[in-house]
Amino acid sequence: MGIASATNAKHVPGKLRGRQANSKPLASDALPLPVGLTNKIFFVLFFTASYYLLRRWGEKARNSTPLHMLNLGEMLAIVAEIASFIYLIGFFGIDYVQNFINKSSDGPWELDDEHEDFGVIHSQKDIVSPRAQLTGTWLKESSDETIATYVGNGEVPSHSLESELGDCMRAASVRRRAVELTTGRSMEGLPLSGMDYSTVRGQCCEMVVGHVQIPVGVAGPLLLDGSEYTVPMATTEGCLVASTNRGCKAIYQSGGAISILTKDGMTRAPVVRFSTAKRAAELKFHVEDAENFETLAVIFNRTSRFARLQSIDCVLGGRNLHMRFRSTTGDAMGMNMISKGVQNVLEYLQHIYLDMEVVSVSGNLCADKKPTAINWIEGRGKSVVCEAVIKGEVISKVLKTSVSALVELNTVKNLTGSALSGAIGGFNAHAANIVSAIFIATGQDPAQNVESSQCLTLMEAINDGADLHVTVTMPSIEVGTIGGGTQLASQAACLNLLGVKGSHPRSPGFYRASKCTVKLQVSRCSEGIFFLPSNPSCTQMTRNTSCLLK
Ligand code: ADP
Repeated sequence: MGIASATNAKHVPGKLRGRQANSKPLASDALPLPVGLTNKIFFVLFFTASYYLLRRWGEKARNSTPLHMLNLGEMLAIVAEIASFIYLIGFFGIDYVQNFINKSSDGPWELDDEHEDFGVIHSQKDIVSPRAQLTGTWLKESSDETIATYVGNGEVPSHSLESELGDCMRAASVRRRAVELTTGRSMEGLPLSGMDYSTVRGQCCEMVVGHVQIPVGVAGPLLLDGSEYTVPMATTEGCLVASTNRGCKAIYQSGGAISILTKDGMTRAPVVRFSTAKRAAELKFHVEDAENFETLAVIFNRTSRFARLQSIDCVLGGRNLHMRFRSTTGDAMGMNMISKGVQNVLEYLQHIYLDMEVVSVSGNLCADKKPTAINWIEGRGKSVVCEAVIKGEVISKVLKTSVSALVELNTVKNLTGSALSGAIGGFNAHAANIVSAIFIATGQDPAQNVESSQCLTLMEAINDGADLHVTVTMPSIEVGTIGGGTQLASQAACLNLLGVKGSHPRSPGFYRASKCTVKLQVSRCSEGIFFLPSNPSCTQMTRNTSCLLK
């Protein structure tokens, strides 16, 4: 932990040491003369006056002259003595106190001069300096511990480490050490090595200090639309992968599942404001006029070869107009892409509606990462229905329950219970579990699990009660196979396992949007088919009323 004195001494330039390197103002800064000269004058004055007075008082003692009988010279000497004494106390005493106060006021950024970890950096004066000098080659050549100290005391911005050092791994390591120094807490256990942080930079995460390990399991084979898939799931919830795997087995032994993509389009809804509701309504009618749509689509589509505007739905809220743009986004989830198109259209509209004020490119009618009725009803991203018929014998053999018990449980729990709870899209057992696990494994935006997990699970007994007809309806699954976290090595490996890594070689958007061969999202949707029958706790619940209440 400690750093070698020689190493650090080499990297701390002389001019950075001492008081003048301290960026904080000191009382001595206010002196009219150079501080060294002023000090000398007052030292000489103090000692000269002292010497003169002592000599005079010695003579008086010898002559039996009262000491309080002062002549002019003695009076001046006393004044000079007092003045120089005040100056010297002020200079050294106040400066000392000020340094002490400055150090204390650093709060959580305080650096303990005496701490063994700081090695050669014996005082805070040694490690503070004008920011301009803490850059470039000098910084790069400093030891990691020295840089961590500068980061810790705020002299080097933590966020600039990647660009300053030109090495993302080293930047993460230094930042991590700085965090340890400032918090006094160890980060041991959080892995640093084993990840290429250059792939994270500018895309996935800032202020990186390491990476979290989440185990990845596989469920499958999932027989879907006639093809078999192995589904990667990143989770720390025990039994989740096992129960999903059991569901895959039940589907497989029953002949597989099928998927139907009913809608595909990502949405972004800017909000603009006018001085009156009447003006806002004029824009609404303008945008909704079919004759104007073509022009707006051309302007929107210019921003990307993958973005194709599908619709703009307007909702007026007083004098605010929310416009919900829907667009294809190729193989990307599409939030960045669609936002660029929206901005282009807004700029165009501002030329026509000069009094239009853009409040926000996203006005929450989108609706991103929030549970909403609009996504549940209108859909966002992929709208998918998946279907399977699970044979009665498979239900008893693999899932250890019966068709009637599952139908009853689904009605009482997923429909009635969820209705009573006022759910929006929560008519399922735990779709969010499976969606989140696949989202994390494949580099999707985990926050979009909120709307992507909206799911209606329906179960009916068919063939005179012998078999189970199951569907899951998921109207707003937001996924991509390019962009965001999908390009990171681990996540790309999981996408590769599903056979949907990157953009489709011939028809962009195919991976993300094609009807029955969109493996990633269909796999996700299909999880919903088997999550309920495959969950041991659910089968147990049908047998056990106390569990049902739980
Ligand atoms: P998002 O829009 O989901 O936030 P990004 O903006 O990070 O995603 O990634 C999309 C980028 O990838 C765009 O710049 C787009 O031009 C590019 N791209 C390359 N191939 C494809 C593809 N097949 N589908 C979609 N985007 C693609």
